[in-house]
Amino acid sequence: MDYTDPGYADPLVVHRFQQFSRAVAALSILVATLVLVGWAWDITSLKAMVPGHTDMKANTALAMLLMGLSLLACHSAVTAAGRLSGLLAMAAGLLSTLTLVQYSWGLDFGIDTMWFDDPASQAVGRPPGRMSQISAIAFALLAGAGVASCRMRSIRVAQWLALAVIAVALFALSVLGYRGLEQGVALPFNPVAVHTALLLLMLALGWLAARPDVGIMRVLSARSAGGAVARRALLPSLLIPSLVSYLAQRLQALGYLSADATITLLAVASGGLVAWIVWSVSVLLDRVEREKRITSHLREDASTDELTQLGNRRAFQVSIKGLLTRRRDEDAVFSLLMLDLDRFKSFNDTFGHVAGDGALRKVGQLLKSALRPGDIAARFGGEEFAVLLPGIDGERAVLVAERIRRDFHVADWPDRALTISIGVAQCQDGDEAETLVSRADRALYAAKAGGRDQVVIDTSLPPADEPAPQQPSLL
Ligand code: GH3
Ligand code: MG
Ligand code: MG
Repeated sequence: MDYTDPGYADPLVVHRFQQFSRAVAALSILVATLVLVGWAWDITSLKAMVPGHTDMKANTALAMLLMGLSLLACHSAVTAAGRLSGLLAMAAGLLSTLTLVQYSWGLDFGIDTMWFDDPASQAVGRPPGRMSQISAIAFALLAGAGVASCRMRSIRVAQWLALAVIAVALFALSVLGYRGLEQGVALPFNPVAVHTALLLLMLALGWLAARPDVGIMRVLSARSAGGAVARRALLPSLLIPSLVSYLAQRLQALGYLSADATITLLAVASGGLVAWIVWSVSVLLDRVEREKRITSHLREDASTDELTQLGNRRAFQVSIKGLLTRRRDEDAVFSLLMLDLDRFKSFNDTFGHVAGDGALRKVGQLLKSALRPGDIAARFGGEEFAVLLPGIDGERAVLVAERIRRDFHVADWPDRALTISIGVAQCQDGDEAETLVSRADRALYAAKAGGRDQVVIDTSLPPADEPAPQQPSLL
């Protein structure tokens, strides 16, 4: 199914995703503002938020604020808000890119301390006020996602960039485990604050959730088995490895786990996670399969004639329409047989209706065994039947009809042998279901008029507009 199908995305899921996205934007704005307040009044608990952990730099908080506002503006339908969203993201992108340039070329543009001094970092030999390399990379990518999100054409690029931010944020979160509360562990990058790593992860998810029905996010909001699996398994499979890695590193740092035991724990945990995902998918596929079977049984019941177990009139209409379409599209030939039991009224009168029903059941079996798998036999009504023969022209259809007629002769009838009259018509250009049925009907009447127990093809009759001396039409 195509993603442009308006019924494909689940509106409730889309709504929830967008609510989450707005909430993330609001949370980032709130935390970033609090951190900036912390820097303005030198309140350590606001800067670090988690006691003992490193603080969020003022420029990190500024980039966070810009990206939060950008995400919020991106939700507005107003064009100007969309443009503002792009500009805010660009500002965050500029800040983080300049920071990366400073790191790469050992420069100092003075942007790190342009608002506040940072004596604590200076004391441990880090560039004062400078956001971590990890944060700068994440914000540069996130800003790219923000700018690309403004255009529908680049939405996939935006989503891939957001995924890259998730990877960076998860890395930052999982290394917190072995960095932990102990400062001074040598790392090739400056430490990232816990709340920075968490909010970067949330912001990346928030950008993805802003447009949940397009691009690579489409499956997550889809009203399908795939959508249900993705919604259930994707986030845990992203987060659990980082969480387990964090816990294992913490336990190792605290002396509860040896290095070997840590590896074992990680291996067992990842095995468990994979098993859980496989189980989730299996449960869902099983449910879908079961529902499909129930639906197909219901559909079969609605199109089967109870007495003869052949198709009913409705099934016949569906099949003939399908064959007519194929004829128009692919010029595929097919023929129709109309069949009527001979003197069945007298059979009923002699042996009763119950015996008559038994005979009709027998006719159902005879027709089924006389036909190929692709042929369609239906009870047209009463003791009249219709057979559709795909790929068979009129001449060959007569042979099939003759075979059926002869099968009636040799069949083992419980009360009295029954015979059948058959009218044959090949589908012609411009035929509709009604015209084809009425030509086969005319041939059937000719077979009855000719003495019953015989096959007549409509092409052997005079044109239909000539006044026919015999009986009125069956239809
Ligand atoms: P003909 O050779 O001209 O077709 O003669 P006929 O007696 O078969 O005439 P017609 O086709 O008009 O007969 C229809 C009879 O089929 C009337 C009715 O008693 C019988 N019939 C129709 N539906 C059923 C059914 O569901 N069960 C039984 N037992 N009989 C049915
Ligand atoms: Mg009849
Ligand atoms: Mg009859």
